[in-house]
Amino acid sequence: VSSNSLEQIRALPRPFSRVREINSLGRGLQNMSNRLSDIMQNLEQKVAQRTSHLLNENETLMEQSTTDELTGLYNRRGFNLLSEQALRRAQEQALSFSMVLCDIDHFKYVNDTQGHSVGDHALVAVANVLKEHFRPDDICVRYGGEEFMLIMVGMTQSDVMERLQKVRSTLTDYAGLPDITLTLSFGMTYLDGPFQKSLEELIQDVDAKLYRAKNEGRDRIVS
Ligand code: GH3
Ligand code: MG
Ligand code: MG
Repeated sequence: VSSNSLEQIRALPRPFSRVREINSLGRGLQNMSNRLSDIMQNLEQKVAQRTSHLLNENETLMEQSTTDELTGLYNRRGFNLLSEQALRRAQEQALSFSMVLCDIDHFKYVNDTQGHSVGDHALVAVANVLKEHFRPDDICVRYGGEEFMLIMVGMTQSDVMERLQKVRSTLTDYAGLPDITLTLSFGMTYLDGPFQKSLEELIQDVDAKLYRAKNEGRDRIVS
């Protein structure tokens, strides 16, 4: 029954017919159409409520599946979703694009000497220091165990460098681990002006630079 025909039934003349049975049938039809239209309205409300509930749940699930539980940064899945978008935005709007891969130095030693839970705290501390030094829209990712990835769109190279140096000095002063100073090694890539690099190429580039930073003695930025 479509709502159109319900309207037509409700608009039937009253009395419907001089023949008693037909008249009574007409009234019956009108009552039925009123009840049906109430039911349909109720159903529509319920569907709208459930849809909105599902949308909220979907959003929560999406957020959970893209967030690293320990640090609250994006996880690898979040990175995959957001990095492509960021690269496209930089290319389309001719904005600079910078990517930084960083890795905690000798982190295994922290775990071995202080225990895994101190190691976990150190990871959270590093994540917070990174997040604090970048803008809310910059992408901060826990890329692997003790590796972090940063993506900044439309930031000058000197601004990126300055922020990374501040991250380094904040970590040096970090008093959370009495016997250990946390240091990071960084591989950084910076693109400005029109560029046609793929995400894979950029990841390879920062990875190679991080490798160099480690080989050249750690606790440094290779760009
Ligand atoms: P390098 O300076 O070369 O990076 O040395 P490293 O010791 O940091 O690197 P390595 O790859 O040898 O060890 C990484 C360590 O990170 C080993 C692993 O147990 C630890 N790790 C990875 N994920 C977690 C985590 O979630 N919690 C803790 N506590 N440790 C973790
Ligand atoms: Mg490491
Ligand atoms: Mg590592």
